[in-house]
Amino acid sequence: MAKRILVIGAGIGGLTAGSLLAKEGYDVLVLEAATELGGCAGKYKRYPYLFPVGATLGMGLEPGGIHERVFRHLGKPLDIEPLDRVMDMVHPTGVFTFHKDRTTHVEQLAAHFPEHRASILSFYAELYHTARITRTLMGPLPALPPQNAREWAALTAALRPKHMRLLPHFHQTLGQRLKKHGLHELHAFRHVLDGLLIDSMQTTSEDVSYLLSAVALDIYHEGAYYVPGGLYRFAEVMAQSIKENGGHVKKPRTVQTLDYRNGLWYATDQRGNSYEADAVVFNAPIQLLPQLLPSPLHRQLKRPLREGIETPTWTTLTLYLAVDTAKLEAPLPEFRQLSSGEAMDEGHHFFMSASRPDDRLRAPAGFQTVTVSTHSNPNYWQTPEDYEAMRTQLSERMLALIEQAVPGFRNAVVHSESGAPLAWKRYTGRPNGYVGGFAQTPGAALFNAISHHSGLPELYVCGDHIFPGGGTIGAAASGIHCARSVSGKALLT
Ligand SMILES: Cc1cc2nc3c(=O)[nH]c(=O)nc-3n(C[C@H](O)[C@H](O)[C@H](O)COP(=O)(O)OP(=O)(O)OC[C@H]3O[C@@H](n4cnc5c(N)ncnc54)[C@H](O)[C@@H]3O)c2cc1C
Repeated sequence: MAKRILVIGAGIGGLTAGSLLAKEGYDVLVLEAATELGGCAGKYKRYPYLFPVGATLGMGLEPGGIHERVFRHLGKPLDIEPLDRVMDMVHPTGVFTFHKDRTTHVEQLAAHFPEHRASILSFYAELYHTARITRTLMGPLPALPPQNAREWAALTAALRPKHMRLLPHFHQTLGQRLKKHGLHELHAFRHVLDGLLIDSMQTTSEDVSYLLSAVALDIYHEGAYYVPGGLYRFAEVMAQSIKENGGHVKKPRTVQTLDYRNGLWYATDQRGNSYEADAVVFNAPIQLLPQLLPSPLHRQLKRPLREGIETPTWTTLTLYLAVDTAKLEAPLPEFRQLSSGEAMDEGHHFFMSASRPDDRLRAPAGFQTVTVSTHSNPNYWQTPEDYEAMRTQLSERMLALIEQAVPGFRNAVVHSESGAPLAWKRYTGRPNGYVGGFAQTPGAALFNAISHHSGLPELYVCGDHIFPGGGTIGAAASGIHCARSVSGKALLT
């Protein structure tokens, strides 16, 4: 009989693990609490509009990218559209463009700061060089921190002499490298870097791990994509693959208890159904583990995981808008960051993505759907009064900045709603609306990250809180690590 794998949560992490294991012949059952798949990279519909709830920018889809390798392995190519011009950042001092081509990108940035041209060129030369070396180490997807002989062996096998050059950087921040290049005080330049880092690394240049930030800032040049319909297509495709390989995906099924007895795992859901499995891949928010597991088991979780459960992250306020494109001077670009220049959070800086005018999966002809999201401190949302005041203040701040950049925008909005922390909690199960995973500081990244091994037998954890961290790429990588640990196979080429 095939080993039974229970996957809890149909986010990108869980579906990646589940689809790889189902293809290997495991008996996979995915339980998802929501009515939609994909979690933070899912969707919802407000007829005739379709909104991505969170993730919109497709990464890791280039040949050799993490998602591309998974979809290729599953035999499920995805409809994707590469972006040469990834996005603009509209900042009070100018509009900065993120180009796919590294040279074009660096040249246009240097043109904004002519007196710092030499420093900017040398900074990027070092950054891209570091990223290139780091990528060769990450390519085989080693699991960090290694927890057993197999993971140590995989890491050692990936090591090359050139990786020794990374050693001095392991505990460094990007801020330290900026200082070395004399760019520490160049605030508008740092803001451009911070705009990318806050979304991918959940922190800014001052505190972010240099090695991870090099990869994060470089990855846009490897490939960024518009995915027709939205990134929920990832979840759809992987769920389809699970079913085609004999597995099952059930929703809405909220797992309420999880127990381990006599070498087997037992779960129950909100309907009173019971499930039995040989192994569990846990993709629901890690903060739920203490309430699902009996306390003797909870105490056996590895210490970094227990500490992670107690560590707050950002939350978000997200606006979901539909616009009548005829009322605008031009259709909205797919991706854009807008900034007041004051801060990276609380509506002063935000990411705005729009459906392509011809994307009929997202909106009828003549309309575009728009998702706008800003980072926010969960402490500001504690009382009902604060909650509504924050929603109003942040929404207004963002709409005012959009109106400045796109005159007539407010008048073009035909549908509008917002997702504050409690909506995120309700629809993705994330306590306090915590999203994005942990800030990738040297103290929390790489060898200090949380392993996918929970500490309990045959219970693996994945998602954006687990190594290597956030974004659909990070969640997928941790799902791959879970599938490798269950199967004992490398699985992906
Ligand atoms: C506003 C926003 C914008 C973003 N933009 C991008 C982007 O452009 N590009 C990018 O790559 N990434 C982006 N991200 C990050 C990315 O969406 C996430 O990091 C990633 O999707 C997280 O996947 P996950 O597997 O960790 O879990 P989740 O997406 O959180 O999925 C976990 C799943 O578990 C389910 N669940 C919870 N509790 C239970 C339970 N008790 N029983 C069963 N199921 C349960 C949830 O309903 C959910 O479906 C964005 C995130 C946000 C919030």
